[in-house]
Amino acid sequence: MSAPEIYEQIESDVRTYCRQFPVEFRAARGSSLTDVDGRRYLDLMSAAGSLNYGHNHPIIKAAVIDYLAGDGPVQSLDLHTEAKTEFIRTFRDTVFAPRNIDYKIQFAGPTGSNCVEAALKIARVATGRSTVAAFTGGFHGGSLGALAVSSNRKKRSAAGVTLPGAVFLPYDGALDSLSESLGYVEMVATESATGVDKPAAFILETIQGEGGVATASTAWLRGVADIAARHDILLIVDDIQAGCGRTGSFFSFEDAGIEPDIVCLAKSVGGLGLPMALVLLKRPLDVLPRGSHAGTFRGQNLSFVAGTAALGLWSDREFLNGIDNVVTGLETFSAEVGHIPGATPRGRGALRGVHFSNGAVAGQIVQRAFEAGILLETSGADSDVVKIMPPLTTPLDELSDALNIVLSLIKETSYV
Ligand code: PMP
Repeated sequence: MSAPEIYEQIESDVRTYCRQFPVEFRAARGSSLTDVDGRRYLDLMSAAGSLNYGHNHPIIKAAVIDYLAGDGPVQSLDLHTEAKTEFIRTFRDTVFAPRNIDYKIQFAGPTGSNCVEAALKIARVATGRSTVAAFTGGFHGGSLGALAVSSNRKKRSAAGVTLPGAVFLPYDGALDSLSESLGYVEMVATESATGVDKPAAFILETIQGEGGVATASTAWLRGVADIAARHDILLIVDDIQAGCGRTGSFFSFEDAGIEPDIVCLAKSVGGLGLPMALVLLKRPLDVLPRGSHAGTFRGQNLSFVAGTAALGLWSDREFLNGIDNVVTGLETFSAEVGHIPGATPRGRGALRGVHFSNGAVAGQIVQRAFEAGILLETSGADSDVVKIMPPLTTPLDELSDALNIVLSLIKETSYV
C-alpha cells in the first residue's frame, strides 16, 4: 500500500493539516522540511507555534541525545528528576527573575488543552464562581472545558454535548470602538443587568492564533486587566501559541505591561517540538487539592531537557538578534501587504496574518505556496486569513525569499 492509500484507508477522516500537503516528509532541519522525493519546503507554520526554535535545533537536539544516551528517566509522572529540577531552576532564572514575577508552576498533561483545563479549574475553585468569560474568535483547545471557552462553531458542535460554564464577550475590534468593547466587559464584571453571572475569570489570547490572527491592542489588554483587577476577576492569558518568543519577547503580554493572574504555556516550551504544558499561577491561586489535576504524562523528561536547552538560547546574542531580524522582515512584509487591495495585514512580532476580503483567496494562496515549496496555513473561522509564523531561527535570506514569493502570490491572486 502506498503512503496516500495508508492514510486514506486507515487514518480517521478527522485529520486536517495533511490534506493541504499530500506528501510524505522524511527530514527536517532549521526552517525547512524535506519530503521523501528530496523536495525541500520552507516552513512558515512552525507546527502551529510548537517549533519556535526551528526543527532539530542542534543545541537542543544534542542535549536530548546526551540525555537518552545516559539512560536518564524518560517518563516519571510528577516525581522529582534531575532534568525537571534543572528545568524549573532555569525557568525561574531565565523567565521569572529578570521580570521580577513570582508565579508557581503547575505541570499539566502535555497538551495546551490540558493546561487550559487546569487554569479553568484553578479560577473556579479559587473564586467559588463557575462562569468564565471568553472572547469572540478565541480558541483554547479541543477538550470539553477548553472547548466551552472557544468560539468556533464547527469545533464546538463536534463536542456533541452542551458546553457549559462560559460566556463570550467581544474581542478587541469586534465592536466599533475600544470604549464600546471595554464598556461591555465592565458591564459584565459589575453584573449590571447583563444577565451574566459574575465571571471567575477572563480568558484571552493577545493574538488569536486560530482566530484569524486578530490582534488585541495594548489599550484593550490594559483595559481588560484593569477591569479584572477592580472587580476581583482573574485574568488568564492563554499564551500557548503567542508565547515562548513568538511576539519577540518571551511572553506576548509583556509589551502591554500587564501581569496576568494565570498564564497557560505549551507548544514551544518543550523546545524541540516535544510536548509539555505549564500553568503559571500567582501564589495565592495555588488552591487545587493535591492530585486533583493528575495526569500520567506530566513527567516528560525529554521535554524538560529540550526546554532547558531552549531557555539557554535566551542569553545567546545571536539567537536574540535572529528574532529581531525575523520580526523586522515580517514588519516590512506586512507594510507591503498593506498596499495590496483586498489584503489586510494582521498580527505583530513573528505571528502574522493576511486577511482577504475575498476569503476564498486565502486557501488558494496556501495551495500555490505549497507548489512553490512553502508551507503555510489558513486561520480564522472562515479560513479567510493566511497565517505566517516562521521559526524564530529562520535565516534572513531564507525568510526574504519565502516572503517575496508569498507577496507575489498575494499580488497575483488577490486581483483574480
Ligand atoms: N490555546 C491556543 C491559543 C492554541 O493555539 C491551541 C492550539 N492551537 C491550544 C490552546 C490547544 O493546544 P493543544 O492543541 O496542544 O491542545
